[in-house]
Amino acid sequence: MSATIADVTRRIAAGEVTAEGLVDDAFARIGTIDPHLGAFLALDERGARQTARAIDKARSANEPLGPLAGVPIALKDNLVTKDLATTAGSRILEGWLPPYDAHVVEKLRAAGAIIIGKTNLDEFGMGSSTERSAFKPTKNPWDLSLVPGGSSGGSAAAVAANLCVASLGTDTGGSIRQPASFCGVVGLKPTYGRVSRWGVIAYASSLDQVGPITKTVADAAHLLQVIAGHDPRDATSLPTAVPNFAAALEAGVDGLRIGLPREYFGEGIDPGVRAALDETIEALRANGATIVDISLPHTHLALPAYYLVAPAEASSNLARYDGVRFGKRVEGVDLLDMYKRSRGAGFGPEVKRRIMLGTYALRAGYYDAYYKRAQQVRALIKRDFDEAFTRCDVIFTPVAPTPAFAFGAKANPVDMYLADVFTLSCNLAGLPGLSVPCGFTKAGLPVGAQLLGKPLDEATLLRTGAAIERWADITETPPGVATLEPKPDQGTQPS
Ligand code: GLN
Repeated sequence: MSATIADVTRRIAAGEVTAEGLVDDAFARIGTIDPHLGAFLALDERGARQTARAIDKARSANEPLGPLAGVPIALKDNLVTKDLATTAGSRILEGWLPPYDAHVVEKLRAAGAIIIGKTNLDEFGMGSSTERSAFKPTKNPWDLSLVPGGSSGGSAAAVAANLCVASLGTDTGGSIRQPASFCGVVGLKPTYGRVSRWGVIAYASSLDQVGPITKTVADAAHLLQVIAGHDPRDATSLPTAVPNFAAALEAGVDGLRIGLPREYFGEGIDPGVRAALDETIEALRANGATIVDISLPHTHLALPAYYLVAPAEASSNLARYDGVRFGKRVEGVDLLDMYKRSRGAGFGPEVKRRIMLGTYALRAGYYDAYYKRAQQVRALIKRDFDEAFTRCDVIFTPVAPTPAFAFGAKANPVDMYLADVFTLSCNLAGLPGLSVPCGFTKAGLPVGAQLLGKPLDEATLLRTGAAIERWADITETPPGVATLEPKPDQGTQPS
């Protein structure tokens, strides 16, 4: 597997490579591969070089280096970046230059990370395939005829194709974990409140969370360490101490109680996914974990509850895009007409569908029947987990019912919504969730296992994930990307 955060920081500290050299390599590789992959919406070559030079200078002067010094990182394009175009995958924000950096971006910069660009996503994070980006679809590095998953599809594809060392995504209902699974990389959705949402373009504020997408579990721990922690600018950010996530990574699974929820292993799971998960469960058992049969009885209500709560919050969050303060404006005969034209032209069909669903659910007289009831279901789902965690330390499930699917395969919106059936509950309950590659289907597509943990117990997820990753070593270059790599006699060879 190509460079991890651990490799890069070590090589930079040892003087084996320069940050500027890494930036050169990254942009050369992006130039060759990304025109065919479509992972990036914007690149910041100038900013990246500037940071790289500063790091190389600091190193030559023997100044202390940050924990991500010289590491090329990509950001999902719903994380705002000062003076670097941020669109959230929507025409309505085309041309907007944010006046500030998101909290997580400030943290990355302070740690010495090199921000190389912004990655593609389904518009405002609404989707599971990156096909709903207003600009272009992203392709799956394992097979260019398949989707990379979504909504953080660009972030997952960029890491899998080695266009960057790591990336950040956001996860409202699965958008970090599902693309990580489809692209054979690691994705971590932290506990709600673990990472500040300040500067994250809001989709559904009570569900949204930022997290790392990386090549290894250790890298996910490293990146979470940098971005986690209290931020008074986000009222839901938890004022809780951040543990050392790397500490328990090597502890293995001996003595851990791992719960398998019956409701997640029923009909409708692709046989290749099922086989990879079964093998992983056997390996967990063989390495000393106790496998516990558990039940999360309200699982079947997660999807309908999510598709009320998320669109309701989205309809309210997206009210701010009115043609006045941000992005696109289409003039009209009067103010109302201008609003209508701007929103009509600026939002794509899926976003409009969500706004209509959400506005309907929040209508006077309907609030109790829809939003309030969905919130009550949410409490039941949370209670299921509380109960289950009295009997186990970690919950093990599929990330998604299928591996990566073909473009256009889920044209019906409900089929697309069903792609998230196993990831939504985690957000409704505010829990941490990790997606870790655990094997392949017969066709050679990566399969992810999902680990769900107690609130604030990312450490146990990372520990379990690190064990799974050791057995299911995914080290090859994704074959779709391999076909795009320059031949040795064609000049620039990516590092
Ligand atoms: N696919 C889900 C949705 O469309 C989840 C997206 C996300 O996590 N941002 O809402």
